[in-house]
Parts: sequence; C-alpha cells; structure tokens
Amino acid sequence: MRYSKLFIPTLRDDPADAEVISHKLLLRAGFIRRVTSGVYDYLPLGLRVLRKIEAIVRDEMNRSGAQELLLPMVQPAELWEKSERMEKYGPELLRFNDRHGHESCLGPTHEEVICDLISRELRSYKQLPMNLYQIQAKFRDEIRPRFGLMRGREFIMKDAYSFHADEASLNAEYDNMFATYCRIFERFSLNFRPVEADGGSIGGSKTHEFHVLAESGEDLIAHCSGCDYAANVETAMSKRQAVNTPSAALLMVETPHVTSAEDVAAFLHADLSTLLKTLVYRAVGGANDGMIIAACVRGDDQVQEIKLTHAIAADSIEMASDDEIAQIGGITGFIGPQKLNCKLFLDHSLTAACGLITGANKANAHITGLDVDRDLEDIHFADLRETRAGDACNTCGAEIELSRGIEVGQVFALGTRYTEPMQVLFQNQQGKRALATMGCYGIGISRLMAAVVEQCNDDSGIAWPQALAPFSVGLISMGKSEAVLQTSAQIYQALLDAGIEVLWDERNERPGVKFKDAELIGLPMQLVIGDRGLKAGVVEMGWRKGGRSEVAVGDVVAKVIDLLKGQLADKNTGSIN
Ligand code: ATP
Ligand code: MG
Repeated sequence: MRYSKLFIPTLRDDPADAEVISHKLLLRAGFIRRVTSGVYDYLPLGLRVLRKIEAIVRDEMNRSGAQELLLPMVQPAELWEKSERMEKYGPELLRFNDRHGHESCLGPTHEEVICDLISRELRSYKQLPMNLYQIQAKFRDEIRPRFGLMRGREFIMKDAYSFHADEASLNAEYDNMFATYCRIFERFSLNFRPVEADGGSIGGSKTHEFHVLAESGEDLIAHCSGCDYAANVETAMSKRQAVNTPSAALLMVETPHVTSAEDVAAFLHADLSTLLKTLVYRAVGGANDGMIIAACVRGDDQVQEIKLTHAIAADSIEMASDDEIAQIGGITGFIGPQKLNCKLFLDHSLTAACGLITGANKANAHITGLDVDRDLEDIHFADLRETRAGDACNTCGAEIELSRGIEVGQVFALGTRYTEPMQVLFQNQQGKRALATMGCYGIGISRLMAAVVEQCNDDSGIAWPQALAPFSVGLISMGKSEAVLQTSAQIYQALLDAGIEVLWDERNERPGVKFKDAELIGLPMQLVIGDRGLKAGVVEMGWRKGGRSEVAVGDVVAKVIDLLKGQLADKNTGSIN
C-alpha cells in the first residue's frame, strides 16, 4: 500500500478525552475514531489489526475442533424470558420494539440464541459433543463506557458454545478451550495470565478469566509468588496472620465524631486489625431480594462485594441507606454487630476473635472488648474479605502479589444453566431423553487491540508485535531523487510479489515527518532508502523496538523475506520481535 493513498488521519497531539495510552495512541495513529459513547469506527489500519486478531483466533479455534457459524445480532425478547435473564441482565441489555410491537434486544451474548437453535436440531448423543463459535459485534449498554476499545458499548467478540452428553465431555472441552486460549495469547506475544474467576451474570460452576497484565487494567489479580495459584480478587482466597487480642470486658467508650475505622484506631491508640468493621447492605434480586444484612470484617480488611453477593445468594448488593440502617437499630458511622435486627455475616478471619473494638450503635460511641463467641448470636461465617498483597497463599503458603489486569477472555463450564430452561435435550445411549450440558468461551477481539497497545508502546507510539502489525514493513523514501524513487519502487514491488505486507511512504514530506509517523503507527520493520545510502549501495534496515543495520540494495528483499519467514515460523513460541 502506498502511504499517500491510505486513509490514515493521524493527530499531532493527544486527544483530550483519552485517559489510557492505548486509547490515545489508537486515535492519534489513525486506527479508530469515536462515533458516540462507546461506539467506534475502525479505520483501514485499525481494521487490518482487527482482521489479524480474528485470523489467529479463527485459526486456533478451527484447530481445536470448533466450527464457525454466524448468529444474528437482533434477538427476540421471548428467548430471554425463557432463559429467565430478561430481568436479571438489567439495563445493559438494549431492548426495543419493532414496527409490529414485538420486543427484541441487541445481543450482548448468545447463549439464548444458540440454545434455541440447538434445541431444535439436536436429536441424538451421536451429534455430541460439538463446539460452535462466531466472531461478531455485541452490544452492551455499559453504564460507564471508557478507555476507548477497552470498554465499549458496541464491541467485537469471539463467542463459542459447546454442548455435551455428560460432565466428563464438558470438562474435556473446557480444558481444550483453556489450552487453545493460551496458544492464542502466546501468538499475540502478550504477557497474560489465566486466573480463577467469578461467573457474573452468565452463571455456571467453573470459570477462568484470561488477563493481559497492564497498569491500566480495571481488574485486580491476586497471584502467588510460589505456585501457580492466580485468581481475580473478586474470588481470590488467602490466609493471613490472626490477631490474638486478649479477651476483656465489654466497655463503651466515647468517640465524638470519630467514624472511620482508621480514625477510631488512631483515636483509641489501637491497631487497625483489632477493629471489627460493620457494613450494611441490601440484597438485590435472588431469593432474598430486599433483605438487609450486616457484613463484618477486620478493620484492616475490605469487604469483597462479589463474595458477599454469593454468600447471601443475591444477584447483586447495594449499600443500605441511613434510613435502612436506622431501621435495623444502627447508626451510620457507629454501626456495630451487637443487637442489630438483621442477618449477620462475619468473615472467617473473625472466628473466635476477642478484644475487638466496634461501633456501639449509639452516636459518638464505640465498644471495646467485644468477644465474637461471647457477645454475638446467630452469626453466619463466610469468606468476605478481599485478598491483599502480602497474604499467604492457601495452597503453598508463599506470599500473594497483586497485579492489574485487562480481561481479554473467559471460559465457563455452564452445566445446565441454559440448557434446562431452553430445553436442549437429546436421546442418550440408553434411549432416554436427557439434558445437554454446556460450556461457553469468549474473547474480546476489539478489546484485545487496546490490550496489545497497552503492552506494546513507548514514548513515540505503538510498537506492534509482528503477528498483529497492520503491515510488516514500512518502506520510507527519503527525498525525491530519481534513484531513491526508482529503488524504492523496485523493492516495494518485489516485497509485494513475495506476499509481504508493506506500507511505502512515498509522500512528499520531510524525513522528520515520515519518521515520526512511522514510529507512531508502529510497524515492526523499517527500510529507509536515501541518496547517501544508495551511493554506498545500501539500504538501512531498522526495527521499531530498536536496532539498525545496513543491507546491500541487492540483498534487501531476500533478507526481509528470510527474516519475516523466520519470525512467522516462530509464531507459536510467542517470541516474535
Ligand atoms: P467485564 O467484566 O470486563 O465487563 P465480562 O466478564 O462481562 O467483561 P464476558 O461476558 O466474559 O465479559 O465477555 C467475553 C469477553 O468480551 C471479555 O473477556 C472481554 O474481553 C470482552 N468484553 C466484555 N465486555 C466488553 C466491553 N464492554 N467492551 C469490549 N470488550 C468487552
Ligand atoms: Mg468475563
């Protein structure tokens, strides 16, 4: 492709509304443009990267034995009623009526549509297992679309759905997909980690997320420094040193206007870990919808709300209002677990703890000497605390570390969560009708483009891994002399003939401008053709990630072919570049 013919609207400065580096660089380098909140155009360079991501995903999915199909974006609401997700999915599901008044929605995911299809076509166990996937736009009316492609409302996903005659077959496919995902992210040259995770609104029993490690990641990942254990903090478990405060008599102390755990500890000259912190929530959805509960953790811990949501069997939770707290006998800022008129959940770390400081349910007062076994009744213990850096690993005891991650994929063993309400049945080997079990497997194709840029950039711009670069080679003509243009044209044609994707910057621009653009766009290899080099019979070969050398004009095409072939052969090891 000739640069002068390519639609690359680069920007000189960082766009004001872009917060993270990938968003800035993809806008500046002319890969994407914003249409409206969370909705983007993919310009020619952006689309080339997207197609490369898709091609690798498709290649590995096909190799894994999955088959590609394409499902519609518009889905009838009745399928969502049938799966009992119409209400549960909430406002992220964009609903609308067509001209006949039929309610539909834009697909945020496709469990319903695929189950509907398979329920109509599946007859016998002989058709199982099968894994069907698609690469397609999804729509989720996210409350806070942000960071460009990272959290869009319209985005591109690879979603796969597998159906099985039994649990063993589902587990085998789960492992197959897990290994496939590892191969995919290795081919992208990404620093990634699979982690244990929460199923969220999709449901199911077993699930792992795949995270690209990056400071801008919205998720917090806990991983062990000594073994393979890694989990999203939403579910991560760990051990910590118990606090052994001696038992003491209950005593009420005045704490005028001192409310936060930190301030109370400072005011009473106590260690933060000897406080018991009580937070009051309301359950939303599920069997206990509307129920008010109190959750207690140590003063130096935080309540992990996803864990609490599971502990009380709710769809989600919200902080209780001051009024709701008053109704159960508490007072905001001075809440304690004693005599609260609601269900009480304590983190396991508070088992048999004594000598604790906690709110007195009385304005400007706290209690000291609280003994969990002696002073509290009818308590439910659960894992409620958020894992912290420095905790001990439950598996091997080594130190837990925390990192930020961008979730680029997730695999789920769903069991019969959808096949039961959607009645996906088959005739089993014994001739009986049986429910199919199911798995589903997503990869954020468009989010990956942003995640790669988060890991592959420097002060001058993007530095694409070879496997994803919009072009493999940037050919830069310096100046307008006949010799430069002629040699450039010959090399350009020879590279094209060899099937190499090359972007020839033949614009009538100063070398400085061309180099700046080349750095910004981030093609892995540069060939610079200038009069000075040609006089010495050489072309300069450079790498976006550093390193330059001179190659004889006559050897350059063969050398590029050789280098790129070597790199492509390396693609399964992730050592591209
Ligand atoms: P998140 O927790 O980030 O909201 P999710 O767990 O709801 O994501 P899944 O339902 O697991 O997402 O979807 C599969 C993949 O699709 C995710 O792993 C992610 O890479 C991608 N994805 C999900 N939501 C978005 C979004 N709003 N914008 C871009 N990609 C997304
Ligand atoms: Mg997910």
